[in-house]
Amino acid sequence: MAIKEFIEGTREIAKAMAITLKHLATPPVTVESPDQPIMVYPRFRGRHQLRRYDNGLERCIGCQLCEAACPTGAIYIEAAENDPNNPVSPGDRYAKVYEINLLRCIFCGDCEEACPVEAIVLGHEYALANYHRRDFILTKEQLLNPPEPNVIIRPEE
Ligand code: SF4
Ligand code: SF4
Repeated sequence: MAIKEFIEGTREIAKAMAITLKHLATPPVTVESPDQPIMVYPRFRGRHQLRRYDNGLERCIGCQLCEAACPTGAIYIEAAENDPNNPVSPGDRYAKVYEINLLRCIFCGDCEEACPVEAIVLGHEYALANYHRRDFILTKEQLLNPPEPNVIIRPEE
């Protein structure tokens, strides 16, 4: 009886060790974030960006439709009239102040959907941790000059 139990126990340990050894040779499925980039899908909605036209003019025309569409009140805009001799945007108006409060944002993409000139878009940057509440309010300058995101785009399946 004792010998039979010993053999069965040894067999089970051998099976378990075989599984362990198999996984030792398998590449890890985890990544060491933030040092290694994480794959995101092309439609992933991350930190916002304000875009410009190729000639340098800001796309945003200060219409405030994104502000109205935002369900959490995360966007604050102050619009101003363009100087015809030195316009900031192609429209009559531009956004003098444009701020997004990331602590309110739920990354729904409604602002992007509402914009008639594709000025505000949600990019791929997801590493948004910060130490101070004030640093979660993105200014127009930050939105116009987004950092390069440390991500790999996952191919669509
Ligand atoms: S993604 Fe949604 S919640 Fe965030 S700023 Fe845009 S509309 Fe508001
Ligand atoms: S980002 Fe688009 S929707 Fe928002 S104020 Fe500018 S032009 Fe209007």
